[in-house]
Amino acid sequence: MNKIIGLEIHIELATESKMFCSCPADHFGKKPNSQTCPICLGLPGALPFANQAAVEKIIKLGLALECEINTFSKFDRKHYFYPDLPKGYQISQYDLPFCQNGKFTVPGTKKDIRIKRVHLEEDTGKLVHAKVEGREVSLVDFNRSGVALVEIVTEPDFKSIETVIVFLKEIQLLVRYLGISDADMEKGSMRLEANLSLSDSQKLPDYKVELKNINSFRFLEKALQIEFKRQAKLLKMGKKVVQETRGYNEKTDKTFSQRSKEEEEDYRYFPEPDIPPVVITQEEINKLKTQIPELAPAKRRKFEKKYKLSGHFVQILTQDLARAEFFEEAVKLAADQIPTKKIADVMINQKLDEEFETPAKLVKKLLLVNRRETASEDLVKATVEKVLQENSQAVEDFKSGKTQALGFLIGQVQRTLKGRGVPQEIKKALLSRLEK
Ligand code: ZN
Ligand code: MN
Repeated sequence: MNKIIGLEIHIELATESKMFCSCPADHFGKKPNSQTCPICLGLPGALPFANQAAVEKIIKLGLALECEINTFSKFDRKHYFYPDLPKGYQISQYDLPFCQNGKFTVPGTKKDIRIKRVHLEEDTGKLVHAKVEGREVSLVDFNRSGVALVEIVTEPDFKSIETVIVFLKEIQLLVRYLGISDADMEKGSMRLEANLSLSDSQKLPDYKVELKNINSFRFLEKALQIEFKRQAKLLKMGKKVVQETRGYNEKTDKTFSQRSKEEEEDYRYFPEPDIPPVVITQEEINKLKTQIPELAPAKRRKFEKKYKLSGHFVQILTQDLARAEFFEEAVKLAADQIPTKKIADVMINQKLDEEFETPAKLVKKLLLVNRRETASEDLVKATVEKVLQENSQAVEDFKSGKTQALGFLIGQVQRTLKGRGVPQEIKKALLSRLEK
């Protein structure tokens, strides 16, 4: 049986204000219902307006995912009933999302996952189940209602659970590199859904099960494993797998049926009449393109090839754009006076990039340490003397015009000094003796 998996990833954008009003978007840990207004409370007559910063952020993401950007895009109403959705519909995008038809490479492979679409919508409120005066109640906190939410939908291109997890971690890293979200799973700013089915051919079967609202990579991994087992067992017995939405209970380590999956028509999509379509010019898109930093895959290649770092060092330093840039700046400032490996080493093993707030300060410190450890002029001279005596052949070679003998002698001196000499100084000392 072949596994077939597709993903839907929701990511809250790190904008100042919400998607369709000017309430603050940063809702985590705030006093319930302290950041609301008639628009995000869905009160009758309130008029939403689109947040430009959110549109710019989703387009950057779309460009990084090699999507086509729709220069004419619009919002639509997606209807469903749930207590955390006061309007009875979510403002989302239906047939004209900002970005579509992209692809993203799974790191460490040449495999591309096709990106079907990337659209912009609003987040919902949050239900809080609590006990008030001895009664079990469900309360609604609307601070999250209307926060800008991006949804990335992939084609069902995954054939293994491992690939899914590697891909998702890379998406998280991408979003952080772009600076458009902290993509923190624990805070719920990145949430995962997977569609999965089993097939005995390469064709898509006539059903899929949707695993909803999973908030950690590990839980998704477990939920997928368990769900594939459940489906395989049913199919083996000749039964049909019901198309539905299932949740995952990490305590029982089981998936459970939540509801039969809505069909598209159940949502009764129609264009949002209160928000005009969004028109973006190619010029604006090009400008956003220039704001995209060098991304993780390119950074990894560079750290390996240009800075000659080991896989482990590359992995750690490129995991965080600020850190990667700190390293590169330090290497530039050190200008060959400190080996790149040394800079990487003090950042990773001594966390000196946390101690020194700028690369310049770190480099200054390392140069000072270097100087203290550097062999004195007298020691260099004495070592040169010793090496010349022990290597008369090389001395003769040099005198008969074989200039490469000099490199060998520098190497010998440096070796005797256990690397504490400055190559330029050794060379000078050697030449002044040899040319006498
Ligand atoms: Zn509001
Ligand atoms: Mn959605």
